[in-house]
Amino acid sequence: MVHLSEESYAEFKSICDKEGIHYDTEAEYREAAQNLLSLFEVLYDGASEELARKKRLATEPNGYAIDSNGRTCFVCHRNVQGEIWYDKWGMKCMNCQAAFKRKIFPGYVLKDRDNNRHVTDSQLGWKYGLHSQTIKKLIREGRLKPRVIPNGPMIFLRKENPDLPQIIEELTNAKSHKNKR
Ligand SMILES: [Zn+2]
Repeated sequence: MVHLSEESYAEFKSICDKEGIHYDTEAEYREAAQNLLSLFEVLYDGASEELARKKRLATEPNGYAIDSNGRTCFVCHRNVQGEIWYDKWGMKCMNCQAAFKRKIFPGYVLKDRDNNRHVTDSQLGWKYGLHSQTIKKLIREGRLKPRVIPNGPMIFLRKENPDLPQIIEELTNAKSHKNKR
């Protein structure tokens, strides 16, 4: 923990004064200042870690493996144990990284957090209520075109599956009809 200097403490008090923040006791002022400092320390550590990671990309532009520390893969959304791959697109598990190297899916998938450009099979399940059997059937019929990550998810790129919104609508309508009957 960073030690709160008397100088910073005096500064903190004068900012409180200016902002109209009032504490009843000296102890409360000190506690508030120390809490703020601890919070700043956490934010600062996180930011400098990220900065260091980004800098390392200058010499290793394809990325590198780091300790996952329980982070989640941006592609398959699984919790990662051990190492995770970091590059300009974000973080992915080693399995998804292997598939990425084989160009099975494009990097923008990692940045596409709102599913504007892609969707995975499990997201089709929990977001849109499509059963895995239905998805398999649609693939067999050639209505959906998947990019398959071995031991991982299937990825549907929106540009390769322009009918996806229509398919989802059809299936949702069919379901609500069933429920009405
Ligand atoms: Zn993954």
